[in-house]
Amino acid sequence: MTHCRKHTDTKTETHCKLCREPYCPACRSHHLFICEGCAVKVLIMFFIAMIVVSYAAWFGIF
Ligand SMILES: [Zn+2]
Ligand SMILES: [Zn+2]
Repeated sequence: MTHCRKHTDTKTETHCKLCREPYCPACRSHHLFICEGCAVKVLIMFFIAMIVVSYAAWFGIF
């Protein structure tokens, strides 16, 4: 058990499924089993995927 980076007085309960970074329950504001940093990364990846798909549809690649 280590302490959370953001909450130094809170012990970590679980770790991120993507980057293996430990985080405390206070940092888990969503229902995903990933940390906030990875949640942002996933969101960015999702947006990029959406842009690529929309471009592909726009230019009639499919
Ligand atoms: Zn992570
Ligand atoms: Zn925390």
